[in-house]
Amino acid sequence: MNNKIIFHLDLDAFFAAVEEIKKPSYKNKPLIIGGRTHNSVVSTCNYVARKYGIKSAMPIFQAKILCPQAIILNGDYGLYNSYSKKIFTFIKEKFTNVCEQHSIDECFLDVTNIVKRYKNVLTLAKTIQKAIFNNFKLTVSIGISYNKFLAKMATDLNKPNGITLVSKNNFKDKIWQLPIEKMYFIGKTTAKILQKIGIKIIKDLAQFNNLKLLEHKLGSHWYFIHQNANGIGSDFVNLQLSNPKSLSVSYTLLNKTNDLNELENWLKILCLELSEKLKSHRMCCLNVSLKFKYSIDKFYSKNIKLSEPINSYEEIYKNASMLLNRIFNYQKSFRLLGVGASDLIKIDTFCQQLTIFSQPIKIVKKDHSIQNIIAKINDKLGRNVISIGTKLIKD
Ligand SMILES: [Mg+2]
Repeated sequence: MNNKIIFHLDLDAFFAAVEEIKKPSYKNKPLIIGGRTHNSVVSTCNYVARKYGIKSAMPIFQAKILCPQAIILNGDYGLYNSYSKKIFTFIKEKFTNVCEQHSIDECFLDVTNIVKRYKNVLTLAKTIQKAIFNNFKLTVSIGISYNKFLAKMATDLNKPNGITLVSKNNFKDKIWQLPIEKMYFIGKTTAKILQKIGIKIIKDLAQFNNLKLLEHKLGSHWYFIHQNANGIGSDFVNLQLSNPKSLSVSYTLLNKTNDLNELENWLKILCLELSEKLKSHRMCCLNVSLKFKYSIDKFYSKNIKLSEPINSYEEIYKNASMLLNRIFNYQKSFRLLGVGASDLIKIDTFCQQLTIFSQPIKIVKKDHSIQNIIAKINDKLGRNVISIGTKLIKD
């Protein structure tokens, strides 16, 4: 029986909203976060800019044509990261610890056990929205459903500051008519493949019965996507994610680019997400890799071995950027960019080893041991190489 209640939270125009808090005069003006060079693309924009037709991944020059007066910022990724950390810690403390961070501005919550404290699911969603707004001056959209896929699809139906409930009874009405490229997990390339075989909307995929052809076109991925289209998906909110061997994030660029500035900007976002992923697994890495593609088929990877385990955005970016600059060649345009972390170590294990082999560290309170040790390590190394993304779960 599937009777869980899953929330998907997505902070609205997150980077732009944080910039508006930093500088309130940006409010009511079209604001774009992205590179400032001609070939850069929009990473996020506020809702005023969206009224001009500007959207994420659009080339900056195109955005400038649509709205010449738009303010364009490079982005303060350290600040976004600290907001993200504070907000998700707040949600875990105030609402539920059963929280899986999905990206810098999104998370899934399993609220099955806490919903009874509220009148109904909508009251809970409104309470969360209000609490986030009162504490951080940011709005969040919430999708509610019985699995993670539908909750995520629901969020996008009503933004900003929306609440959307997608149930077993209404999911066909709510999502089946959406174009296939709007489906979560389906990128532009996959959408094109599906469109070629006549799958234009999500309903077409759900009802597609030539499963052999689907498998041929999508590989092993087909089953998962086909199930999702039929409203079937995972409802497991992974709060203490398993022990992965490696973690990575990548983006397929909308337009191929050889603009180093733009690539650096994407790299910052990727490193931020990878850092969050590592922290949510309570891990650090001894190997950072840069993954890239110049064309659809060939995949390249360059890596760097580290002498100290890291998981902070600053350290990952420093290494990834070094790799990018090493392989960068103006004559080759990038199609895909990614960052990976491998040789992973659990933070707790690492701290134990370090305390055994280095000078004894006095622990004031047992509850704060890990933070204390991490602070000491960072102190000792003279920079912030390790940090914890979430508050420790007390034993
Ligand atoms: Mg968002």
